[in-house]
Amino acid sequence: MKDDVPLPEVNIGMIGHVDHGKTTLVAALSGVWTDRHSEELKRGISIRLGYADTTFRKCPKCEPPKAFTVEKVCPIHGVETEILRTVSFVDSPGHETLMATMLSGAALMDGAVLVIAANEKCPRPQTKEHLMALEIIGVDRIVIAQNKIDIVSKERVLENYKEIKEFVKGTIAENAPIIPISAQQKVNIDALIEAIEETIPTPERDLDAPPLMHIARSFDVNKPGTPPEKLIGGVVGGSLSRGRLKVGDEITIRPGIKDEKRGTWEELHSEVVGIMASGKSVDEATPGGLIGVATRLDPYLTKSDALVGNVLGYEKSLPDVLTEFTMDVQLLERVVGTEEELRVEKIKMNEPLMLSVGTAITLGVVTSARDDVVEVKLKRPVCAEKGWRVAISRRVGSRWRLIGAGTIK
Ligand code: GDP
Ligand code: MG
Repeated sequence: MKDDVPLPEVNIGMIGHVDHGKTTLVAALSGVWTDRHSEELKRGISIRLGYADTTFRKCPKCEPPKAFTVEKVCPIHGVETEILRTVSFVDSPGHETLMATMLSGAALMDGAVLVIAANEKCPRPQTKEHLMALEIIGVDRIVIAQNKIDIVSKERVLENYKEIKEFVKGTIAENAPIIPISAQQKVNIDALIEAIEETIPTPERDLDAPPLMHIARSFDVNKPGTPPEKLIGGVVGGSLSRGRLKVGDEITIRPGIKDEKRGTWEELHSEVVGIMASGKSVDEATPGGLIGVATRLDPYLTKSDALVGNVLGYEKSLPDVLTEFTMDVQLLERVVGTEEELRVEKIKMNEPLMLSVGTAITLGVVTSARDDVVEVKLKRPVCAEKGWRVAISRRVGSRWRLIGAGTIK
């Protein structure tokens, strides 16, 4: 059956404070538990970006919202359900130390489900920080899942609803639907799917443009000890933001890897030898959904996420590699992500900032700071173009905290 479902056409982020139920909700919607690594299983928290695809369907006989489902056969009427579309969920880690990973993932999101647990007072620090990150990156299609309603009273659900309403006032999520659910008990998942279908449409894509893919993961898929003649080339994972990528395409990856001797960055050139989308091998990929691209690169170059933050495309149409840039900056009023919420001071000369550009995270040192125009020199170059959004974080105490948004000039 799996073979006749369409490939994913939209990426939906799961965001929110640690333990509020993001990974459980992805599992409830897709059957896939995204905490796959042993380290994640041991600590009980998501560390890397996880992803899972699921196909939304509708029963032709049930009334909405009951009609919305992920089941192939309606449990009530016993009839086959109609396919609506396939979506890819990008599961973010919600722990405060993992904001950089969340920001990389946000670069791939077309919309997001903000998970808020009803048994805690809203907003918790990363509830706020994740929503702010979406605002900075410009992801404005949002559904709020008010989770864990199975363990609180009806009064608490209503009180928490008011807290959420108050919290989202004046933010991009101001008019987001709020759906009470239990991810663990699978309560109201139908209404959540309906809200996602209505609120997060598949964006229009430019399929005629040359392909551009943000790399979010990279792997060496060979077992240790594989003889050299049997080695499979490096694999990179990510999502296309435009265009089509085909098996056989000649590709370039920027900024590439550092030549330690010369201190320069060397872009990589290779060929697409295979594309995996939704567990299937395909000849061509389009935007929406996370894909794995098999190349002829030395797998040593792609192992352990070494190429995260790079951009893949055709040599002639890829954005340039920037070692410094100027950005228009809008600072937040207060530092989010902490309980105390200090005021955000102006950006100063020579201060180090953590910058997220696409899936890349780099350190930038400020070389000029006027009120809302800031120039930075990068420790690690990025492949980016004019108009791209930058999430700006500053070191506050022992952690990097979001302080504002930039747009590359
Ligand atoms: P994440 O950190 O946001 O990904 O949260 P997880 O999905 O890992 O869930 C954290 C804990 O909350 C786990 O023990 C889940 O079983 C539990 N949990 C998640 N959703 C629900 C729910 O709807 N009701 C209840 N009672 N527990 C839930
Ligand atoms: Mg999780």
